Amino acid sequence: MNAAQAISGWLAIVGLGPGDAALVTPEVSAALAEASDVVGYIPYVARVAPREGLVLHSSDNRVELDRAALALELASQGRRVVVVSSGDPGVFAMAAAMFEALEAGPAHWRDLDIRVLPGITAMLAASARAGAPLGHDFCAINLSDNLKPWPLIEKRLRLAAEADFAMAFYNPRSKARPEGFARVLEVLREACGDDRPILFARAVSTLDENLTVASLGEARPEMADMRTMVIVGSSHTRIIERAERPILYTPRFVPEAVS
Ligand code: SAH
Repeated sequence: MNAAQAISGWLAIVGLGPGDAALVTPEVSAALAEASDVVGYIPYVARVAPREGLVLHSSDNRVELDRAALALELASQGRRVVVVSSGDPGVFAMAAAMFEALEAGPAHWRDLDIRVLPGITAMLAASARAGAPLGHDFCAINLSDNLKPWPLIEKRLRLAAEADFAMAFYNPRSKARPEGFARVLEVLREACGDDRPILFARAVSTLDENLTVASLGEARPEMADMRTMVIVGSSHTRIIERAERPILYTPRFVPEAVS
């Protein structure tokens, strides 16, 4: 490899959106069209159309740092590398893993041309389908305890409920702890009462899409799986009943008297 080849390499860490090809940004499509290599978790790489000259590197879910090192190494050899995540790459996904590897890795990786290209994250796709439940202040919490201790999850849930945020939950039912989501519902019922609206938005923008609006009192752990985004309203979130699925929205304002 000569210096010119090394200089032509680049790395784009991209989000493929929630599923529908129409929700992939033109910027991400352009990066994929120019790539020599695509690196990512098996089902996400499967969403990239194969073509002559494009090498696909699929790997299992729990090897993020190996995958990141592979992508950085390929780019430093002069390859044009796209690392794919679903949704947005900066939301519980590969962008942070890439920078963990970069920070710990050899100094020459820091000279690489690295870009993060945003995508439509599941929280926003789910919220748009339901109406506007995140129309006022909200927070996002990953309910998986793979990378953090369970007590921290419960603490954040309680404080978010106390602050009266609407809450968006990723990875609601961790495989390692299937009973965790039942506990989450208990904590929320204690903190917010039974009447608070909760949205289960499964496989948004795919053929398997299914949305259910319930109250916390009606919510059951089985309503969520690893393809589901769960959104719990704030105390101001409203439901507009209609013949079809209701609209869920949170008004933009909170009156002075209740703030
Ligand atoms: N980077 C991704 C999130 C990865 S975490 C993003 O920005 O969307 C994986 C979790 O995202 C899943 O467990 C699920 O909670 C949520 N998710 C991803 N795609 C989804 C979809 N199409 N519909 C509903 N939830 C989805």
